[in-house]
Amino acid sequence: MVNWNSLHEEMEQLKREGRYRPVQSWTSASSTWMETNGRKLLQMSSNNYLGFADHPALRQAAIEAIQTYGVGSGSVRTITGTLAIHEQLEFELARFKGTEAALTFQSGFTTNQGVLSTILGADDVVISDELNHASIIDGIRLTKAHRKIYTHKNMDQLEQALRESALYKKRVVVTDGVFSMDGDIAPLQEIVELAERYDAFVYVDDAHASGVLGRNGKGSVDHFGLNGRVHMQIGTLSKAVGVVGGYVACENILKETLIHKARPFLFSTSQPPMVAAACLAAIRLLEQSDELIQRLWSNADYFRKGVQALGLDTGASETPIVPVIIGSPEKTMIFSDMLLQEGIFAQGITYPTVAMDKGRVRMIVTANHTREELDFVIQSLEKVGRKTALI
Ligand SMILES: *Cc1c(COP(=O)(O)O)cnc(C)c1O
Repeated sequence: MVNWNSLHEEMEQLKREGRYRPVQSWTSASSTWMETNGRKLLQMSSNNYLGFADHPALRQAAIEAIQTYGVGSGSVRTITGTLAIHEQLEFELARFKGTEAALTFQSGFTTNQGVLSTILGADDVVISDELNHASIIDGIRLTKAHRKIYTHKNMDQLEQALRESALYKKRVVVTDGVFSMDGDIAPLQEIVELAERYDAFVYVDDAHASGVLGRNGKGSVDHFGLNGRVHMQIGTLSKAVGVVGGYVACENILKETLIHKARPFLFSTSQPPMVAAACLAAIRLLEQSDELIQRLWSNADYFRKGVQALGLDTGASETPIVPVIIGSPEKTMIFSDMLLQEGIFAQGITYPTVAMDKGRVRMIVTANHTREELDFVIQSLEKVGRKTALI
């Protein structure tokens, strides 16, 4: 008789290590205050950087698309699942990013799977930062390419890896634009210069940089003035853009190839039309004004300084992602639970997402947080920090 004993054991193990977490269920829109179990909490863990998840212009665009197209696309992109709204979104994304073309996928996760598995073959080598996102790691696992991992942002190691890669057919350097657990920015200038010296492609995953970094949120490539020198820019439509989906901004020839070869594009149904329409509305808002992005950065700098002034460790943070590094998984979860008592939702992030002794509550400041709300979080961090002897 089969049974699930091994899974029971695994879950018991998580409980012993303080890593077992029920999923929080919310009963209101994604916003600065969110309701759960009849209680309103100040949200410090959402990727909704600009408040677009709940923005009236996006809601309206989605409703109109439902009226025109219904709720489903009917199939994968290559059969009946390409609606005019998908192509319009891709056209405007490419214009926004300043690239020849853009191709959308169902999520940032499937974008990485689709693009990496298409471009990398057995004769190629991929050179990847050790802290790259799980979807990049999984995308690489789908390929037969040779792998080299460099220590986080270590340019000497990257150069060493490139120097040893001359005999491969393609060399592809892969990095997050903004690292999701630490909130630091990739040294893209150096990466691009090294890649050019050693004839390598550059692949940047801007999930946390789209709508955050660069002019009007165009991303890390724009931030560093490297337009035209990065071959693949991955973006997500699920974070600052506020909806769901992913895309690659690239040259026409890569888009054409992906349409014929990328498996999530060929074998999984396309985004519902209202999703594409809401994303399109978001891109238009970004192009119209950078006011929200200015507010986002001003809030982020204010908050980070406030947290650091308490003597708490914000690690390498230099973006609106502000982690407070606590330590063991158990301590991290206690800290997160104590903030919850104060009315603040700041999710604890522990091993294996981060190293065992680098557990953290990762906070994300948004444009819509008020100074009073941020002050309240800082005061609560002080209170909890003292109670837990962290300060
Ligand atoms: C969140 C994230 C993704 C996944 O994006 P989804 O649209 O949520 O699937 C991919 N890459 C990075 C770097 C991310 O932070």
